[in-house]
Amino acid sequence: MLCAIAEGLLPAPDAAIFADTGWENPADLEYMEEHIRPLASRAGVELIVCRRSETPLKKHLGGGLLDSSPASLGKPLPPMFFRQPDGSVGKSRQKCTGEWKRDVINHVLAKRFGKMTMRRHWVCFSTDECARAQKPSVANTPPLRKFRFPLLELKWTRRESIRFVERCGLPTPPQSACFICPLQTDGEWNKLKRERPLVFWRAAEIEAGINDACAEKLDADFVAFHRSGARLADVIFKDGDSRRLFCDSGDCFT
Ligand code: SF4
Repeated sequence: MLCAIAEGLLPAPDAAIFADTGWENPADLEYMEEHIRPLASRAGVELIVCRRSETPLKKHLGGGLLDSSPASLGKPLPPMFFRQPDGSVGKSRQKCTGEWKRDVINHVLAKRFGKMTMRRHWVCFSTDECARAQKPSVANTPPLRKFRFPLLELKWTRRESIRFVERCGLPTPPQSACFICPLQTDGEWNKLKRERPLVFWRAAEIEAGINDACAEKLDADFVAFHRSGARLADVIFKDGDSRRLFCDSGDCFT
């Protein structure tokens, strides 16, 4: 979207905002510093980077990974997979996007532009993702927040959007997501393991910590990041597998 603004296809918004969860894939952060920050500056758009750890919102447990609300005390915030007594694999509720990104972005924007200011929030879903723009969490906009989808207005597919970025002279952009994200495809896990082994094994350590804290609460043998319910260290990833699991937010995987 910033490339389209820099090329004059879209007007410049007041600011572009990026929420770093604390588990953001290092490749995304590098891309942001090397390419997005200079591009935003050239396009005359203020780039705001916000972090949950720097906001006075409610504190989480387990180093930020576990819920602290009374109804789900100690349960994981990311959507974890766990094997149930009948052998099937269950999935815990996804609360991470709301608590690590949406609330932080709303807090920072309210502080920066005023609590009662009407905000038009641009989300870069492409035409092959237009179903995401109709999901309840995006479509049910609060009264002071309205969504706009500029890539849908430009009628760009994901591939066309990426080609446009490349034609502007930038390398292929990654999809913004956490390196621990259970919604990743096997292809993405495999890439992480191959290209960033230290980050991959850090994810495996974090998974073990969540399992220690939550397995009993979820009545599970193991609480896993991978959809198979197996520990990351044991999974054989299918390289061609690009099945993205469901995430209807506009704050992850865009
Ligand atoms: S990328 Fe995944 S783990 Fe991170 S906030 Fe989004 S859904 Fe949660």
